[in-house]
Amino acid sequence: MQIELITIGDELLLGFTVDTNAAFIARALAELGVEIVHRSTVGDEAPRIAAAVAEAIERTGAVITTGGLGPTADDMTRPAIATLFGRELVRDERVVAQIESRFRRLGTGAMPQSNIVQAMVPAGARVLENLHGTAPGLWIDDAQGRWVVMLPGVPREMRGMMTDTILPMLRELIGDATTAVVSRTIRTTGIGESALAERLGDLARGLNGMPLAFLPGWEGVDLRLTSRGMSPADAAVELESAAQTLRDVAGPVVYGEQADDLASLVLAMCRERGKSIATAESCTGGMLGARITRIPGSSDVYRGGIIAYANEVKIAQLHVGEATLAEHGAVSEQVSCEMADGARRALGTSIGIAITGIAGPGGGSAEKPVGTVWLAVSGIGETRGLGRVYVGDREEIRLRATQASLDLVRRSVGAL
Ligand code: ATP
Repeated sequence: MQIELITIGDELLLGFTVDTNAAFIARALAELGVEIVHRSTVGDEAPRIAAAVAEAIERTGAVITTGGLGPTADDMTRPAIATLFGRELVRDERVVAQIESRFRRLGTGAMPQSNIVQAMVPAGARVLENLHGTAPGLWIDDAQGRWVVMLPGVPREMRGMMTDTILPMLRELIGDATTAVVSRTIRTTGIGESALAERLGDLARGLNGMPLAFLPGWEGVDLRLTSRGMSPADAAVELESAAQTLRDVAGPVVYGEQADDLASLVLAMCRERGKSIATAESCTGGMLGARITRIPGSSDVYRGGIIAYANEVKIAQLHVGEATLAEHGAVSEQVSCEMADGARRALGTSIGIAITGIAGPGGGSAEKPVGTVWLAVSGIGETRGLGRVYVGDREEIRLRATQASLDLVRRSVGAL
């Protein structure tokens, strides 16, 4: 089955709102084996909405829209599509009652008269209940079986309606069609995109007939395999064997799969081995601690951290040597190691992690450019630092440093 998607709203065209609805719907339909063959965005003007839907109906005959179902004057989806299908808008008393009861339930006073417009339904359209907001969805079809589903723009409402109503309806429409688009992601870190492609050789072009996508970000490079045209059961077998090959060839840069979070994996590894963690952060100013404490249950591994931004704090709290700072500078292997040792001792943990670096935009030099970062892990064998130079803005450099420090712990603890 093929579908077109039209997202509606001036704020989408202007770039003030990122079109997350399109991404969600595309992914949800792919899992069902439904192909999105065309995607477009139009503003809140009735003629443009009607033109986009008319084209899509001609081309594909199956259309989902989001947005423009609200109670205000700029919400034009309902009248534009009703006119296109040659239908009157008729007041639906059941929808009026549902909206009124929602206002009563939420205790927000009487329903404003403007909401009545949301109960105006194109004659012959099916009303799709919205359990997450006031505007119901609408399903309208013509004599040739071509159809348009209108969903609200508010992402939470749209997602709820897709899950509650649209996906089950489409599943029924598709009937016995048994293929699906299924993806599997292998997560790597500590290696660049081109070096990884080189390591994978011919595999970089795909495995078992499945394309391989390289998706770089601050966490590392994700490798995504996508199977099309197979049954979910066959896809699972093919994806498992391809993922195994990728893990073998990529080697230790692979830290997880799908949505695995490195902080969560590191905590689990430490927990299993009875290890506790303390952090000493300079340029990341507590980002590593925040990342670790975001994971529920982190308290049984993580004791705490010291944000040692100024040299005096590095000296007083972490016992970094004044001579070390003077000789090597705050961003150096020696200082990162003394910070990691200091954090471990100060907080009485088995492992200390340290980050010191130049996040920019100022403060760089020819010898130590912006993006220079030293990381160290103490408590697992000899304390040694890892130096990196990251590209990106201040925030990206800090995020990358945080991820790399966790990876250093993963590799050190994993080697035990
Ligand atoms: P409402 O009943 O709230 O008026 P609606 O169907 O009219 O719903 P819109 O007014 O078009 O929806 O959008 C409501 C809000 O939902 C927007 O301000 C925007 O923040 C968000 N939104 C709309 N479309 C999208 C989209 N495609 N992706 C992400 N967010 C969106």
